[in-house]
Amino acid sequence: MKWTETYIPTLREAPADAELISHSLLLRAGYIRKLAAGIYLYLPLMQRVISKFSQIVREEMNAAGALEITMSVLAPAEVWQESGRYDSYGKEQMRIKDRHQREMVLGATHEEVVTQLVRGELKSYKQLPLNLYQIQVKFRDEIRPRFGLMRGREFIMKDAYSFDRDIESHKAAYQKMIDAYFRIFDRAGLDTRKVESDTGAMGGEGAHEFMVIVETTAGEAHLLFCEACDYAANDEKATYIEADPPQVDAEEKPLEKVDTPGAATIEEVTEFLNVDSKRLVKTLLYMADDKPIAALVRGDRDLNLVKLKNACGSVEQPEMADAETVQKETGAPVGFAGPIGLKNIPLYVDQEVVRLKNFVVGANQKDAHYINANIGRDFKAAEVVDLVTAVEGELCPKCKGKLKARKGIEVGNTFMLGTKYSESMNATFLDENGRERNFIMGSYGIGITRTPQAAIERYHDDKGIIWPKNIAPYQVEIVPLNYKQDDLKAAADQIYADLRGAGIDVLLDDRLERAGVKLNDADLIGCPLRITIGAKSLKEGKIELKARCSDEVELVDLTQTVSAVQATLERLK
Ligand code: ATP
Ligand code: MG
Repeated sequence: MKWTETYIPTLREAPADAELISHSLLLRAGYIRKLAAGIYLYLPLMQRVISKFSQIVREEMNAAGALEITMSVLAPAEVWQESGRYDSYGKEQMRIKDRHQREMVLGATHEEVVTQLVRGELKSYKQLPLNLYQIQVKFRDEIRPRFGLMRGREFIMKDAYSFDRDIESHKAAYQKMIDAYFRIFDRAGLDTRKVESDTGAMGGEGAHEFMVIVETTAGEAHLLFCEACDYAANDEKATYIEADPPQVDAEEKPLEKVDTPGAATIEEVTEFLNVDSKRLVKTLLYMADDKPIAALVRGDRDLNLVKLKNACGSVEQPEMADAETVQKETGAPVGFAGPIGLKNIPLYVDQEVVRLKNFVVGANQKDAHYINANIGRDFKAAEVVDLVTAVEGELCPKCKGKLKARKGIEVGNTFMLGTKYSESMNATFLDENGRERNFIMGSYGIGITRTPQAAIERYHDDKGIIWPKNIAPYQVEIVPLNYKQDDLKAAADQIYADLRGAGIDVLLDDRLERAGVKLNDADLIGCPLRITIGAKSLKEGKIELKARCSDEVELVDLTQTVSAVQATLERLK
């Protein structure tokens, strides 16, 4: 492709509203434009990246035996009502009404639609296993659309759905997808880490996420992994063994109310009473689907909202109660809530709290706390569960190795769905004994638009993008420093024709711009290899070959250009 014949609107200035470097680079390098919050237009360069990554995904999915289909984006509400997710999916679901006032949804994911597709038609165990996938636009009314393509309200996803007759066969199908995912991300030049994850709105039995580890704020996902074994989980899911458990008294002491004037925060209370924060229990009031609940965790711990949501079974993630609600429910201002005497509010108690004796809690009264509180004797839990976010330094639940924390971008995930959808939507087949059974299902997503941005977040420098070769819009960019000069133009055109002839994706910057502008743009858009054609080296029959990821410049004989390009590309990630 010639630069003047395509459309690459590069910008000099970094756009003001782009928080992430990858987002800013996509805008500056002319890959995307924003239409509205979380809604982007893909320009020619981005379209090529999307096509290349999609093709890798397609090849690996096909190789794993999955079959490509295209389902509709629009679906009648009834399909989602059948599974129960019309109510439970929450506000992320985009809904519209058709001209007859019928409720429709825009696909956020397609478990329901694919189940409806096979139901009644896939009748026999002989037709199993089956794995259907599509690469398609998805709609989600994200609460915080941000970071460009990372968290859009409209984005492209590869979603696959497997149907199996039994658990063994399902596990094999699941493993095939895991293997395919590693190959996909590897071909895209990305190291990924597979971590256990919460099953969330998907429901089902087990799940994993594929993360690109980054140090920047792009890493919206937090993961923990063991230094000693293969345990890795995101922080919504990770559990741990305490590295340094608090001392526990032998006997329960009598409950006592004490004055704690002005001490409302953990620091203030622990200092005032001179106790370790591990022996203080926070009572946190939340609204779960508009009903108040309380979560009890140790003073030194952070409440994990996903674990709380799972424990209380709410549709939406619980939200912290406001000061007014706290006052109304506990009779005290924020900072003094406690479990004792808290009527009509279910108490979700973290398992570490249960191991404590004689701890401090709020007294539901301004400027007062109880000391020597004990669960069972002084208050009862609605449920005792793990409610805490694991942190670095605690011990691995599998082998007691040290846990490490990292930030990551989730680029793909896999879910064991079990029979959640096949049961609720009554999708069955006949087994070899003629018995009716529900399909065992799995679902498998990859962010087709998020992943390339993750690659940029991972690979860039202060000049621009550094694409991995297999998802770059063009593998090579030819930059004749002066396209007006006949010999430079002739050499550039020749190399362009030769590389194209050799099946290499190449961009020729045929603009009559200053050399500096062209070189800056080449670095900005980030093709893995650059061929620079200048008057001086051309006199000696040479061109300059430079990989975007390195500072080294190789002088190559004009006649050897194609083989030199091929050899260098081979070496690159
Ligand atoms: P997240 O936790 O980041 O919200 P998710 O668990 O909702 O992701 P899935 O529903 O499993 O993600 O979607 C599959 C894949 O689609 C994700 O791994 C991610 O790569 C991509 N994806 C999800 N939501 C978005 C979004 N709003 N914008 C762009 N890509 C997305
Ligand atoms: Mg999400």
